[in-house]
Amino acid sequence: MGKALIIGAGGVARVAIHKCCQNPDVFEEICIASRTKAKCDEIKAICEEKYGTGQGKTKIYTEHVDADHVDELVALINKYKPDIVMNIALPYQDLTIMDACLETKTHYMDTANYEPPETAHFEYSWQWAYKEKFEKAGICALLGSGFDPGVTGVFSAYAMKHYFDEIEYIDILDCNGGDHGYPFATNFNPEINIREVSANGSYWEDGHWVETKPMEIKREYNFDGVGMKDMYLLHHEELESLGINIKGIKRIRFFMTFGQSYLTHLKCLENVGMTSIEPIEFEGKQIIPLQFLKAVLPDPASLGPRTKGKTNIGCIFQGKKDGKDVKYYVYNMCDHEESYKEVGSQAVSYTTGVPAMIGAMMILKGLWNQPGVHNIEEFDPDPFMDELNKNGLPWVEDFNPVLVD
Ligand code: NDP
Repeated sequence: MGKALIIGAGGVARVAIHKCCQNPDVFEEICIASRTKAKCDEIKAICEEKYGTGQGKTKIYTEHVDADHVDELVALINKYKPDIVMNIALPYQDLTIMDACLETKTHYMDTANYEPPETAHFEYSWQWAYKEKFEKAGICALLGSGFDPGVTGVFSAYAMKHYFDEIEYIDILDCNGGDHGYPFATNFNPEINIREVSANGSYWEDGHWVETKPMEIKREYNFDGVGMKDMYLLHHEELESLGINIKGIKRIRFFMTFGQSYLTHLKCLENVGMTSIEPIEFEGKQIIPLQFLKAVLPDPASLGPRTKGKTNIGCIFQGKKDGKDVKYYVYNMCDHEESYKEVGSQAVSYTTGVPAMIGAMMILKGLWNQPGVHNIEEFDPDPFMDELNKNGLPWVEDFNPVLVD
């Protein structure tokens, strides 16, 4: 059916590539391109061995690219001529990749919104500014096709379409009940992860943001498949688009679980300045403490074989249908060890890589390719929900959930 250029060869990209190879009728060819080409070659070798080569199999190419440079990206897109570019590198590369897609009139998708490297701050304004240009070029940019953002937006669109006339409250609950045995490690890119959790929290209420101190709001929740966990309110990117796209919304909050060991280590690292993104002079060289910290922490890709337990991520909705109050919780549980057995990655990469592949599939199948720049909840959720069930992320519905106070 089509050709995808995949930028990035980290934990999430690895899962997405396996999933493309499991859907060779849609992904006839893929090209994996990243800064370190050896990682692309390694994934290609693993997938070719696992899924085979030749007729009816996904044909895999690899290339080196520095996605900070638009001219390199344009040259690669012109050489390979993909139908879509799947940006699974880092949020810093979103705009250069979008520029290259515009120049070559190629569909675009990503899993995280743009963040300037020098400021720990993310918002959609930079990418939404491309709306008109993408419309005029007749190409689609699908923003945030991971789990959260991603599946959480699809869950919201699905709830709206099937169960509500209006949704007033959404609580997104992201629980990782996995244990990797290290006192401190992050489950995806440490730099991006620490920038996210050490920032102020916020939630959307009555049309404006309410800001909180980092980890100021704490709740407990009993998660199916995991058990009782502490969770903390964070700012998260899908709150911004759902606040606009879900009609009638009064409040959206995002909670993520953290263990005490993680929080204690994080506080200590913050207190000694290791999470700072301000450059410092070290032995005659400028270094950024957080980037140095990333270099000494375990690579998230290495956590796969050590992690046991499950993730449980979902959304609790409250609103009205036919004048009656309705509650609805939809979530997925994903097992770290089973994910590792299937694709060699733990569940946090798995739950992001599967929806990245499905988002690209929606575009390649022509189901979601309306020109412009779109957040995921703007599209028909039904085909995406079907593919979640088929591709390893089945979802569970509960019409009488315990609510978060
Ligand atoms: P990793 O750090 O494991 O991988 C990032 C990859 O991007 C690496 O292969 C890296 O190359 C490559 N890369 C970085 N900079 C460049 C560049 N300038 N040019 C080309 N390639 C580059 O990250 P993850 O796989 O954990 O995360 C990938 C993305 O997924 C991130 O944007 C993250 O924020 C997002 N994410 C989204 C989630 C969601 O639910 N929506 C959840 C988790 C993650 P190299 O190997 O050389 O460093």
